[in-house]
Amino acid sequence: MNRLETQVVHGGREDLGELGVHAPPLDRSTTYPLHSLALGTEEIDELAAGGHPRSSPIYARLYNPTVARWERAIAGLEHADEAVAFGSGMAAVTATLLAAGAAGRHVVALRPLYGGTDHLLASGLLGTRTTWATPATVAEAIEDDTALVVMETPANPTVALVDIAAVVAQAGEVPVLVDNTFATPILQRPRDHGATWVLHSATKFLGGHGDTVAGIVATDRERGRALRQVRIATGAVLDPQAAYLLHRSLPTLALRVRAAQDNASELAKRLDGHRGVARVLHPSLPECDPDGLVGRQMDGPGAVLAIEVAGGEVAAARVMEAVELVTPAVSLGSTDTLIEHPAGLTHRSVDAEAHAAIGITPGLLRVSVGIEAVDDLWDDLERAILVAAAG
Ligand SMILES: *Cc1c(COP(=O)(O)O)cnc(C)c1O
Repeated sequence: MNRLETQVVHGGREDLGELGVHAPPLDRSTTYPLHSLALGTEEIDELAAGGHPRSSPIYARLYNPTVARWERAIAGLEHADEAVAFGSGMAAVTATLLAAGAAGRHVVALRPLYGGTDHLLASGLLGTRTTWATPATVAEAIEDDTALVVMETPANPTVALVDIAAVVAQAGEVPVLVDNTFATPILQRPRDHGATWVLHSATKFLGGHGDTVAGIVATDRERGRALRQVRIATGAVLDPQAAYLLHRSLPTLALRVRAAQDNASELAKRLDGHRGVARVLHPSLPECDPDGLVGRQMDGPGAVLAIEVAGGEVAAARVMEAVELVTPAVSLGSTDTLIEHPAGLTHRSVDAEAHAAIGITPGLLRVSVGIEAVDDLWDDLERAILVAAAG
């Protein structure tokens, strides 16, 4: 298999030479001509079972060739047999819970998680009953009826690192879902550490330009079929135009992630010990990686950091008002830098009593670092922090 830098450029483009084109075509058909009823019937049976069509996609909710190109590329990057795309990251989380048979059953989940995932599990909307665990208590949280273990690393919003292989070992027979949104396959391939399901909010780094909402899940052949069945039944498809944009963004993924990661590491270093900042969270700082997972599990510390500003919520709100180059906004993984307040925004739906235990403090700000010149980012952030500290 080619190296990552080659895979991102060539994945999902294997047949372009044969087609005689250089850029992938965009297929927006909602339906496809069926001149043989017998073949069409056979094809429908295969698609309904979660397979790939041989001659015709039949209907756009069942299958789309442009979406399938991007799925093939992501499956390769995540060392998986299959990847299945959805209309959003949350649609991907929902489909995975359904495909894993977790509806009406027990789930073990490690906090912190993305606020939406936390809410979906805590609300019991899909009939799941959730036990919240820490990396040390997964084994004791497992029950006979546990269908799935859910984790993120680096976790949203504190960028806490979790040892995937250690969680997989504790989970025993129970499959583990790793949300790999923050790391991307450039920095971490959870299936190499035993994860069964690997999920992305592609709205973030995979899309990378702040203009596309999508989700994708990479897994083995059999579970890929289960995911496609759920996608057909629930209609949570990805629009082909969005898939085209996501595939268009993929060749620069490694460049973007590494450039943003370099900026994040430099900012973390400068912020650490700054008088307006009480605490900096970024896996490049030794105290944020006590188990030495960077280098072992991750190929780098990633491009998201968090800071706890001195002065709590009031100061945090002032920083968000004072930034000029950096955009105060939720979401992450874009080419530009975003700053947001997890307690008040992205993680507002998370049980308030759990906030302190998982590190979502009133003064915490999450920074998704972009690929701008690092000195411009520093000038803007430091000025905003000093304005906030001055009251
Ligand atoms: C944003 C996000 C999601 C949800 O994705 P959407 O595309 O917004 O539905 C899930 N997990 C993580 C880690 C996220 O950051």
